[in-house]
Amino acid sequence: MAKVRALVLERQHELALRDIELPMDTGPGQVKIRIHTVGVCGSDVHYYAHGKIGPFVVNAPMVLGHEAAGTIVEVGAGVTHLKVGDRVCMEPGIPDPNSKASRLGMYNVDPAVTFWATPPIHGVLTPEVVHPANYTYRLPDNVSFAEGAMVEPFAVGMQAASKAKIVPGDTAVVLGAGPIGTMVAIAALAGGCARAIVADLAQPKLDIATRYQGVIPVNIREQSLSEEVARLTDGWGADIIFECSGAPKAWETIMELPRPGGVIVAVGLPVNPVGFDISSASTKEIRIETVFRYAHQYERSIALLGSGRVDLKPLISETFGFEDSIKAFDRALEGRPSDVKLQIVME
Ligand code: NAD
Ligand code: ZN
Repeated sequence: MAKVRALVLERQHELALRDIELPMDTGPGQVKIRIHTVGVCGSDVHYYAHGKIGPFVVNAPMVLGHEAAGTIVEVGAGVTHLKVGDRVCMEPGIPDPNSKASRLGMYNVDPAVTFWATPPIHGVLTPEVVHPANYTYRLPDNVSFAEGAMVEPFAVGMQAASKAKIVPGDTAVVLGAGPIGTMVAIAALAGGCARAIVADLAQPKLDIATRYQGVIPVNIREQSLSEEVARLTDGWGADIIFECSGAPKAWETIMELPRPGGVIVAVGLPVNPVGFDISSASTKEIRIETVFRYAHQYERSIALLGSGRVDLKPLISETFGFEDSIKAFDRALEGRPSDVKLQIVME
């Protein structure tokens, strides 16, 4: 254990930048990473505002942050694929590799998974962190730390695009243009969708999404989404609907959007159970997919960033220094419609 400075959520509504004891020994199979950039995620902000997410309750002080990139400063015994000085990003969830879920390839739904900044596990808004080398991924030289810290939410988009089983030329609808919806749209377009009709109520968010070729914005305050989808698909409907708002209201009319045989991918996580029109889904034989974080998506996400085909930099709205990290969280709490991703730089 070592005393280190960290952004600590003491309890609901109370953040402190203070010293805390954290494990800092680099064991076999582990690496120590000097953290460079950490993204502020909706879940971090939710813990700050509400002190819990579903069954995960902040009962003790917890370091926030799970979207991170940095540089390897120490390599544990037996680690061969990483060396000191490598620029990396990290997968925040560590499963039990021998669990049934892991052996099925679904390590993201391993009940034993531990995940940064999900109580009681500390996050990484602190200068250094020790992590399994197997969940640490090297960044190509042309991918910045800022983009490296975006791999975590982008991997959610990649998981959604993978679960959709996109066929080249598909038309997608994305409900919600927050960071997740926008990254789902980007992943869906990279995965072969010809166009992504992105719907939101906040025009500034739509304006940012529209910077990506293939995105067709629909402001649902001004336009009927189902009419737009019908118009753009000659009345047939869209091949894939990605629900990324988490808004119960989105589910009320979602069945107006898919074509017969289309797919709905539930990415947004409504706080309470929502109703779903099974009869309409059945008569169209709609396929339903769900997404929980990601499995096996980091390497492909980094490959897309390195290829230059995906650029996530336009989604970074503002960067704060570590000493200003409480300001970053208060800004996130404001929920400015023009903010997509806020980041904190440690050094
Ligand atoms: P966000 O709140 O920043 O974005 C949601 C967006 O949806 C906002 O821009 C909002 O204006 C818009 N919106 C609200 N109601 C709408 C409606 N009826 N139709 C269309 N758009 C609407 O959230 P985010 O960080 O982008 O995350 C989105 C959702 O994804 C959340 O529910 C979050 O919990 C969930 N999430 C799921 C996973 C997963 O593994 N499944 C991972 C991360 C986040
Ligand atoms: Zn996140």
